[in-house]
Amino acid sequence: MIAREHTRRLLVGNVPVGGGAPVSVQSMTKTDTRDTAATIAQINALQGAGAHIVRLAVVDADAARALHEIVERTSVPLVADIHFDYKLALIAVEAGVAMLRINPGNIGERARVEAVVNACAAKNIPIRIGVNAGSLEKRLLDQHGGATAEAMVQSALGHVAILEELGFTQIKVSLKASDVERTVKANLLFAERSDIPLHVGVTEAGGRWAGTIRSAAGIGIILGHGIGDTIRVSLTGDPVEEVRVGWELLKALGLRQRGITITSCPNCGRLECPTEDVIAEIEKSFGDLDEPWHIAVMGCSVNGPGESRQADLGVIAGKKGYLLYKGGTYWKTVERAQVVAGVKEALALLRAERKEQGA
Ligand code: SF4
Repeated sequence: MIAREHTRRLLVGNVPVGGGAPVSVQSMTKTDTRDTAATIAQINALQGAGAHIVRLAVVDADAARALHEIVERTSVPLVADIHFDYKLALIAVEAGVAMLRINPGNIGERARVEAVVNACAAKNIPIRIGVNAGSLEKRLLDQHGGATAEAMVQSALGHVAILEELGFTQIKVSLKASDVERTVKANLLFAERSDIPLHVGVTEAGGRWAGTIRSAAGIGIILGHGIGDTIRVSLTGDPVEEVRVGWELLKALGLRQRGITITSCPNCGRLECPTEDVIAEIEKSFGDLDEPWHIAVMGCSVNGPGESRQADLGVIAGKKGYLLYKGGTYWKTVERAQVVAGVKEALALLRAERKEQGA
């Protein structure tokens, strides 16, 4: 288990963030926020996939006003993402969002910042400061000779100072670049200097394949240092994929458990029967479960029994069919067409056992 750095605790709606709370998975809608039906449907899909917090872009007053209905008809904490316009921030707070993402240094005159801070403080709504390497202040770019990790941290601390001068401490920070190296450096540097919770992600990471790898590398290294309180995997495409990848990442690092985790061998010349289609069928049939189950799917008996003994359930391709392991011991052998039914039956039995043991 990775030892977590201590950060101060916030509440984003009902989700604890920082201060030892488990790392949360966040995503962002890609619908036009003014299209409330499509936005609500996407928020619900993200929540169904396991998103703890969902962010929405608020581009104008119509989008801000749409938040009233969206908040009312959804149950996951929502973050309103606002650039520059403090009036949109005030409407969003009024609408009942759980958090604002706005950079106080970009709001303008002090009275406007105060208005936003007072509105958030009155409703106990935290503010996320989001520093992106692509939009750093010119002054910092000149001072540091470009968008370096140090410049990103300085930008974040500048925005933090504005809020803290007004007595507002319910802050989360993100420091994102589109490359792993700067993202990691900036997050590690910031964590050395502040106990403010961090939202971690590699921005503009790319499409599903490359973006997953880049995000896993960047977020994984940061989490491996015990840093990071919420994460977002940023992918071009369906945001539900972002949530799935986020969860796999947390599961891989032993930080959270949810749904099925599959251990599978790559297959090789010793293979008795291919297992790729078996895995696809298991993922399709059991991918929506919330309960954590560890399933091993192995191509032969070289490593099959060993992995199956360490899993809740094992499927090993054998000469005479598929050997099923349940609770770490051999259970029975079934034909290919019966594998999913066998897994289903085994899960039902194991579930009953867990219930009996009060697990
Ligand atoms: Fe090859 Fe068997 Fe190992 Fe799979 S379990 S990689 S088939 S030796």
